[in-house]
Amino acid sequence: VTQDPKLDGIPRYVRVNTCRWNTKAAIKYFESKGFMHKPLGFPEEKTFSQDPHIPDLLLFHPSVQFHTESAYTSGQIILQDKASCMPAVVLAPPKSQKSYVIDATAAPGNKTSHLSALMGNVGKIFAFERDRRRFNTLQKMLATAGCSNVEALNADFLASDPESTVFAQVTHILLDPSCSGSGIVNRMDHLLGQAEENDQDVTERLATLSAFQLSMIEHAMKFPNAQKIVYSTCSIHAEENEQVVKKALDSEHARSAGFQLASRDQVLPSWERRGQETELGTQFREWIQSPLYCVSTSSWPGSVIRCNPGEDATNGFFVSCFVRQSNPATSIQ
Ligand code: SAM
Repeated sequence: VTQDPKLDGIPRYVRVNTCRWNTKAAIKYFESKGFMHKPLGFPEEKTFSQDPHIPDLLLFHPSVQFHTESAYTSGQIILQDKASCMPAVVLAPPKSQKSYVIDATAAPGNKTSHLSALMGNVGKIFAFERDRRRFNTLQKMLATAGCSNVEALNADFLASDPESTVFAQVTHILLDPSCSGSGIVNRMDHLLGQAEENDQDVTERLATLSAFQLSMIEHAMKFPNAQKIVYSTCSIHAEENEQVVKKALDSEHARSAGFQLASRDQVLPSWERRGQETELGTQFREWIQSPLYCVSTSSWPGSVIRCNPGEDATNGFFVSCFVRQSNPATSIQ
């Protein structure tokens, strides 16, 4: 969050962690602290409201600090940008003892804890994090948030065996891999300045990142029971977003495993800003409407979500969702 809240118009978002608390109790608590509850709208300094798209998300004025607040240190609330709450809501893992979910890139753990809350803290989440230091942060975060249905793994998701007895049961996968971070508002000026000076470096970096992001989606598509895969970034670059989705859908993995883009009504339909058609050009539009993918004009670019910094009261973000339409015709090597 930027130092000057007026610059970005992003409220202080507070997600009530339903592994530890509930929104009704949170509203009472904040009222007792002198905040007035107004159901909707941008909050003033002493008011707060509820988000119209994300359940259990409260909005405070950007100047309000919660880092020393007991509800925060005890894990009852999680400070998480609205856009970053969208992937777990779109993945919508079932609330069931039999629910098996993977968060492939988990640290620091905001989305893992959100998945855990949406699952009612039952079933099982395997949370991969390959970086040791970030894995320690993840473990602390999950302990504070009281997420007892998560098994954190200090491991590389790309090295996991999709056919193993345990992972073969996984039905839902969240992929929020490393990206350029170009949508994060307080990094934007810095990145834009760099882009002008080092266009070639930026292009090379995006090419490396997008190849890695694609490999993560392709690996996720190898899980034999995966029904739903959500891919998100905090990047504003089409190279890491729509173009990666296009390559993934066009891959042999997607075809043989039967993955397609989820339709708009499965991807937070009430959110208006959708994928950037202009970034993709006509070639992509023609391709996505081809009989192979059967995505109609009205659903593309509607089936993916964009959040634009400076326009949506969030950081820049992208969310897409792949669903398996059929049983895999052949097993993927
Ligand atoms: N989803 C997280 C959250 O909301 O708190 C943020 C994830 S961050 C964008 C990406 C994370 O993925 C980093 O911590 C990075 O170390 C980790 N990562 C990158 N590649 C990975 C891989 N192949 N396997 C496991 N973790 C990976």
